[in-house]
Amino acid sequence: MSFKKMIRLVTAAAAISALLSMQALADYAVYSSSGDLPTGVGSEASGTPGVIYAPGVTPHKSSASDMHGVVTYSGGTASAQDTSAAETPVQAESVPVPVAEPQPADAQQPVQDTAAEEISPVEAAVPPVSASTGVDGDPNLVMSNGRMIDITKPMVALTYDDGPQTAAGNRIMDVFARYGQRATFFMVGDRVPSRASEVQRMVAEGHELANHTYSHTYLNKADAATIRKQVAACNDIIEQVAGVRPTIMRLPGGNKNSTVLQNVNMPIILWNIDTLDWKTRNAQSTINAVVGHVHDGDIVLMHELYDATAAATETIVPTLVGQGFQLVTVSELAACRGVQLTPNTVYYSFK
Ligand SMILES: [Zn+2]
Repeated sequence: MSFKKMIRLVTAAAAISALLSMQALADYAVYSSSGDLPTGVGSEASGTPGVIYAPGVTPHKSSASDMHGVVTYSGGTASAQDTSAAETPVQAESVPVPVAEPQPADAQQPVQDTAAEEISPVEAAVPPVSASTGVDGDPNLVMSNGRMIDITKPMVALTYDDGPQTAAGNRIMDVFARYGQRATFFMVGDRVPSRASEVQRMVAEGHELANHTYSHTYLNKADAATIRKQVAACNDIIEQVAGVRPTIMRLPGGNKNSTVLQNVNMPIILWNIDTLDWKTRNAQSTINAVVGHVHDGDIVLMHELYDATAAATETIVPTLVGQGFQLVTVSELAACRGVQLTPNTVYYSFK
């Protein structure tokens, strides 16, 4: 085993361990802040190693000692762009702004430490990556969201924005289910209530439900109060409908500025592979943007709105699986690469 691989294993194990502690902390915050438990939080879960937990199920109960399970950012190997690249122009509704090629060697620039300290406990909740190391005695294997991940093997996160959209969304989930893989759906809050069964299926099948604001508002044009409201309302409606509160968000259009980066108060996930599926509406074009171009740690941007994207997914998923890629959620990707996601920080990939 190479030194690099050993480091990666150690950091991943530390991150997963920390996530379990932080999950307890998050649960504590939920209990103490509202007393209104989201569906699926298993207060009696024991956290037995090797047990597969359903999404949102608490691996173990919180205790006073858990409160001191402080996560130290490992430094990881996450690549990200300088947030000064933020001044992307506003474009038409549902038109994502392509992000320039990331600089893999760039260190993540911590953003607004003081703002991060002001976030509410619930918005700071760590993803429900229910993982335990050492499956069958193999430290490389972790159980997460109902299936096993080998942290030493390549993995990518396929992400779908702007849903829920029932027809394409269910078709996309059919493919992921067939191959035992997981996706991340960045959803617009006001589209969620009328598509409850689709969103609940996401939870049941181990996908990650993520925040894309309540009404797809370009937050760089909003004031601080609006930014906070757009983010919180999206989390609220998803939690109300699906029983799971998102822990990551994506900015509509990728548009950000300093006010956004002080008020989102969640980890901000962008992408490093843009399929331009919204523009081409062509399945083969979307396939070509991914297959042959994707590498370990990449985050791929697609949109749930289009039948062509669903059709592309029907080729992309089996092809990538056949090439040895594991398709994981964004939070899983971060955890497996030893990255502790931090509110108000922008991530483009997890190399
Ligand atoms: Zn969008």
